[in-house]
Parts: sequence; structure tokens; C-alpha cells
Amino acid sequence: MEKLICYSIGDGQNINFWNQPWHPDGTLVNLITDSSLFTNISRNANVNDILQGGIWGPILNLPQLHVLKSTIDKAILNLGNSNEVIWKPKDDGKFSIKSAWNSSSEKIPKPPWTLSVWFPSAIPKHAFTCWQALWGRLLTADRLIRMGIQALPYCPLCTHGSESINHLFFRCAYSKWIWHSILTKLNIRRRVKDITDEETWIRDHCRGKSAFAMAIKLLWHASIYFIWFERNSRIHSNSRSHKQQVLQNILHTVKIKLIFLQNEDELGTPNPICSNLFNLSNQHNQKAQRWCYWKKPPLGKVKINSDASLTAGNAGIGGIVRNHEGIGIRFFSLNVEVEAIHLLELKAILQGVVMASKNHLRNIWVESDSQTAVNIILKKYQCPWRAISTLAKLNIILSDMESWEISHSWREANTVADYLSKIDCPFKGEDMVLGLAHSPIQQVIDMDSIGTLYQRM
Ligand SMILES: [Zn+2]
Repeated sequence: MEKLICYSIGDGQNINFWNQPWHPDGTLVNLITDSSLFTNISRNANVNDILQGGIWGPILNLPQLHVLKSTIDKAILNLGNSNEVIWKPKDDGKFSIKSAWNSSSEKIPKPPWTLSVWFPSAIPKHAFTCWQALWGRLLTADRLIRMGIQALPYCPLCTHGSESINHLFFRCAYSKWIWHSILTKLNIRRRVKDITDEETWIRDHCRGKSAFAMAIKLLWHASIYFIWFERNSRIHSNSRSHKQQVLQNILHTVKIKLIFLQNEDELGTPNPICSNLFNLSNQHNQKAQRWCYWKKPPLGKVKINSDASLTAGNAGIGGIVRNHEGIGIRFFSLNVEVEAIHLLELKAILQGVVMASKNHLRNIWVESDSQTAVNIILKKYQCPWRAISTLAKLNIILSDMESWEISHSWREANTVADYLSKIDCPFKGEDMVLGLAHSPIQQVIDMDSIGTLYQRM
């Protein structure tokens, strides 16, 4: 199975240099025989410690690393984007049961947990961590010590038990509390055991595509992922989160995924517990409630949200640039000549892109709530003749960007730009430093940055 998966390297953070499959030949810890290499490159090193500015560090010139150096150019670099797990058997890199079945028929053994780990709606990085845990492939202290590597023998989560996969999942008081709390929220009363017992229970009780079964499987994956993430943060970054916070992260991530699946009509009708816990609609005859949220750009990229307003003979355009943390950097708010609304939307996009370019922001993600404007830029719609010059100017600036993308946003997740486009917005200018601390709009920026869900009307 490991040969079927690899990482595309975006920022390279959180991809362990030794233990995760980013190298074209596979996971390096399985390829090297000389454990003295860990003194040259720490076992905790991430890929971004060795790859800087798109260039591999000179440390790879060590003779023992010659084999890995010779094929490293085939590693998938996608700098400026987020790291992604790629499912190699399919051209689009997305997992499907069918392709797994075809790929696995001879080459890989099929453990009983295959279908509880690799299902189509799974979040790939969560599924991958779960798969590593079930195979005993996570580098826990007991495994490191067996390999002759020094490691703290105790569990960093509870500081009592000795660290092993079975301890971390879920004999440890910290992780047991998290998984038990999740089961309790789902009204499931049972004693939590260790990872293989829990997996067997999930496999027996979560068959089919009901929303309830899907929620449990996603929560199970997310629990393993976030507990492992917390364990790594404590060891490598010396940062600690309370178990309550980890629980909230798990619930929030799964909630977003389930809402997305429901929006895409890929989720069965949820039972009342599930709909209460995740804000899912359980009405058969009513249109499902739909939700959206403002999505942060990846590290190294900024996001421009723009909008236009047209009321009773007045027109305005507005937009904001935010970084990967959702923090506002620049904004504009201008009153302009009245034109058709989709032309104004294009002008708003152009103004946002010009502002980014002037400020040397060259990896951009543009979002507009005008599907028409987005489709014109993507050449899906023919450009109206009135918009030709705007579009030409836009294309020149975009061609000078290092990377750009454009997508449609729901109106409810584009409130900041909407506010700035209003003719009576109190802050006017074509390229302003964001200093809206005392404005009500800062509240919306803050809500956007934590992934607040907005109900679509
Ligand atoms: Zn523990």
C-alpha cells in the first residue's frame, strides 16, 4: 500500500523526512540500513529542513545518501501550496475503492481494515495516519528504541505509560478521554479498548453510507490524526494543547467535512444525534440547510476577496487581501462609474490583483461571488466586448504572477469585500493598509479566520 501513496511537497512542513513517503523510492526509514545517519539528519527532521527555497541542502551529498540523491529530482514539488497525499494509481491523485482494488489484487496483502481506512469520503492525510497506526508504522518510542535510536520512553500525553501504538490509541488516559467523549456525544456507551478492538467494532457497526456510519469513521480517523499530531507537537515543538481543544479540533474538522458531503448530496439522512452534533439537516422534504465558510489560502499565498455593489445610480467596488492565517493585509474601497454588475465585478477583481502586484504579492488566490466574472476569466464564458480591456489588463498582470487561481465564493463567505464595496463604506482608498481594528468589519475578518460557518440563504 505504501508504494501507492506519496506526498506532493508544498511547504514541506509536517512531512517527516525519514518516516513519510515523499521520496519517489518510498519511505526513507525503510530504505536505509545505516542508523548513524540520524546524527546527520535528525529523525525528527521535516522535509522543509532539507529543502529550502526549492533547493535540496548540501547534506544530501553524504555518500550514504547517494542512492536517494540520484532519484530525488522525481519528488513532486508543489511549492507554495499545501502538502497533499497523492493516490498514485489514479491520474487525478484521488483515492477510489475501485483503483485500490485493482492495484491491490496481487501486489499488496489486504488486511481486514482496508475498507474502514480507505473509503471514498475519507480525508486522505487522516486515513494515511490511521493506516500507519494500524500497520504499526508510526515511529513511537518503543519502535525507535528497538531500532537502536534514543527516545524518551514515556508517553508525552499522559507522562505515565510507556509509549507504543496501543498505549497512544487508546489506553492512554489522555487519548482514551478524547475517544470516549466522542462516543458519548454519539450516544454510544461502551468501554474503550485499544486500536485494533476499536477498529473491529467500527468495521462491524459502521457498514454502509449512512450519515451516522460516515460520521463515526471520519471521527475515528480524525482522532488518530489529531492525537498523533498533538504527540508530535509536544515532542518536536514543545507546544501543548488541552485534550478539550484537541476534541474541538476533531469535531470541527469532521463537521466541515460532513457539511461539505451533505452539500454535495453524498451523505445519507442523518439521525437526530448526528444532525444536532454537526448542524446537519435531517428534513426529508425540505431543502437541506447549506453552509459555507471562508477558506484560508495556503502558506506562501494570499487570498483576494473582491465584490461590487450597485444601488440606485451609485456603484462601488471593494476588496481585501489576507494571508494564510486569515489576517488582513491591504484593502481597497472605491466609488466608480455605474456599469453592468458583472463588469463592476471584473473591475473589482482587477483592482484587487493590481493592489497585490504593487505590494509584490505574487502568489494569489482570487475569490469573487460573481460566478459570471469567474467564468469569464477562466474563459468558460465569452468575454463581453465591454469587458475586453479590463480582461486584457487583468491577463497581463496575472501572467506576471508566480501563481494564481480564481474561484467562486458564496456571498455569505464574502461579507468583508461586500462591506468594502458599499458606497457608504467609511474607509475609502485604492491601496490601504488594513487598520480597521475598531471597525465592526474586523469582527467578520476574525470570524472568517477561525472557519466560522455561515448559513447560505
Ligand atoms: Zn499516555
